[in-house]
Amino acid sequence: MNARIILKAGREKPVRQRHPWVFSGAIARTEGALAPGDPVDVLDADGTLLARGYGNRASQIRARLMTWDPDEQPDAGAWRRRLAASVAERAGDGRLAAPDSACRLVFAESDGLPGLIVDRYGPWLVLQALTAGVEVRKAALAKAVAELVAIHTPVEGVFERSDVDVRAKEGLAEATGVLWGAAPPAEILVAEPGAGGRAVVMGVDVAGGHKTGAYLDQADNRRRVAAWCAGADVLNGFAYTGGFGLHALAAGARRVLNIDSSSAALDSAIANAERMGFATAKGDDPLAPELEAAAFACSEGNVFGVLRACRAAERTFDAVIVDPPKFVHSASHVDKAARAYKDLALVALQILRPGGILATFSCSGLLTPDLFQKIVFGAAVDAGRDVAIVERLAQPPDHPVLLSFPEGSYLKGLVCRAR
Ligand code: SAH
Repeated sequence: MNARIILKAGREKPVRQRHPWVFSGAIARTEGALAPGDPVDVLDADGTLLARGYGNRASQIRARLMTWDPDEQPDAGAWRRRLAASVAERAGDGRLAAPDSACRLVFAESDGLPGLIVDRYGPWLVLQALTAGVEVRKAALAKAVAELVAIHTPVEGVFERSDVDVRAKEGLAEATGVLWGAAPPAEILVAEPGAGGRAVVMGVDVAGGHKTGAYLDQADNRRRVAAWCAGADVLNGFAYTGGFGLHALAAGARRVLNIDSSSAALDSAIANAERMGFATAKGDDPLAPELEAAAFACSEGNVFGVLRACRAAERTFDAVIVDPPKFVHSASHVDKAARAYKDLALVALQILRPGGILATFSCSGLLTPDLFQKIVFGAAVDAGRDVAIVERLAQPPDHPVLLSFPEGSYLKGLVCRAR
């Protein structure tokens, strides 16, 4: 029999509305043995069964819910059914059709699989276990997902990238390594469809790269933004391995200056550009003549400083892309982060030629799309420019947002024309 969590009176509404988290503060008492990740039943104060999932007493989120069907247990079969559904959705969207494509296969709570992320880079899968419930099942989950994906496209191995801070909140240490099959190569080549019909090929290091190796959540947006960059002189801020810049060039941009604080990321950006046949240059001074002469230039630096240096030098661009890391880590950081987002948008607008394109993003879930738009408006006011939104961007279909779990929504972007 499952352990039982009995909620305090009046605290059942989110569970009835299928929110997948039960916080410690909503719980009256827990009955039965509950080891980390064990199945658990959640009952209201009157003893009525509401939902089932798995528990972890070490976490403020005491239970993660998987089923509201009284006849279903959160057992291996339930995990496998949800994994199969998740993989089938991606296959249905055509994201498994090309053997060298990449996509997110499982987006945790948003796919009914709390705590589990699985990304695919060609024949290699990368698993992230964010919770105790996934940790205790990860070997079985890796095998199951490999088998399910292999129905559609070959799978060579499943690598774990559970080196994330949130694991500490679950009482878990970081973990990385091969979970199933073979070890991945140092570089996996994946192809993303490009705006101009030309695919963009990127090398992904799943063992050493950021997140699970790449920013898959921006794959569709890279193509959408590139479509605005034909013929343009582009600044790509927070470039990582050059994704937006490579897409822009493939779609006919004249030139791209890529800025990132990671020299290693820019080295892979250069390798990516060379593989695609673009002339490259890398150097400390982003405005040096040899960088200006290259179609794909990279400079290591702080985007905030480089944008200011361009402003001081009166170096303007036809398009500026800013895709910074997450600035908001808790609700108390929203104001400070808002100032950083505004600063980026302001200086970006100040170095845009008339009619130029600003593509600005935020991956901070705690910052709403409304507030983000207001921030960009504030920057437009300060820059003294008329700025029109020409396209709104968000998460791609392989990072779905479950209505009962709005926390899964985090990425927003505005493509704007500055008159
Ligand atoms: N646009 C990228 C993803 C960007 S992720 C893509 O499409 O793949 C954010 C990047 O910003 C990381 O590569 C990180 O190294 C870099 N970064 C973080 N802070 C920075 C700063 N202040 N200046 C420059 N780069 C920064």
